[in-house]
Amino acid sequence: MTEIQETYASTGPVPCAEHPDVETRLRCSRCGKPICPRCGVRTPVGMRCPDCAGTRSAVAANPTATGKAAGAGIVVAAVVGVAWGFAPDWQFYWSLILGFGVVEAMARLLRSPRGTDLQAIAIVIVVCGVVLSRAIVAQRLGVDLSEVNNLRPAVQRALYLRPIPDLLFALLPILIAWRRFR
Ligand SMILES: [Zn+2]
Ligand SMILES: [Zn+2]
Repeated sequence: MTEIQETYASTGPVPCAEHPDVETRLRCSRCGKPICPRCGVRTPVGMRCPDCAGTRSAVAANPTATGKAAGAGIVVAAVVGVAWGFAPDWQFYWSLILGFGVVEAMARLLRSPRGTDLQAIAIVIVVCGVVLSRAIVAQRLGVDLSEVNNLRPAVQRALYLRPIPDLLFALLPILIAWRRFR
């Protein structure tokens, strides 16, 4: 399929990569794949294929691979979440490891790791990792998370519940997930 398209790359109309029955001269402005008016997506930098425009739903395109990728991401998030819970002092590193670990584990299992649904899945997974780390810290300190708002500041500090650094460390892996699958 791709060989045929490359052979005709510099000549006239070629079959659209998505719709082989449609002849087209349009090409994706990013990857050069032949696209037709039906599948091309208008962007500020020209017409793009659904993959490069990020409009293709990764889940719909390949549910099995996406499921496996999500599974791998969950495993990484669980491991990092537990490690983070046991060594919360290193949370800057844990938040980076969580973000990159989850997205790379997922991307490895996907052919075109892009799409808003993938971003959403990855973000949910990293948030679960962060929550898990907090739950473990709380468990180790023997506090009930539902009473967290009534805790004395000293306990809150021990739990790393200060809003600013805490939100930052939760935001970091979310940003990584968002960027990677954009
Ligand atoms: Zn493209
Ligand atoms: Zn097409």
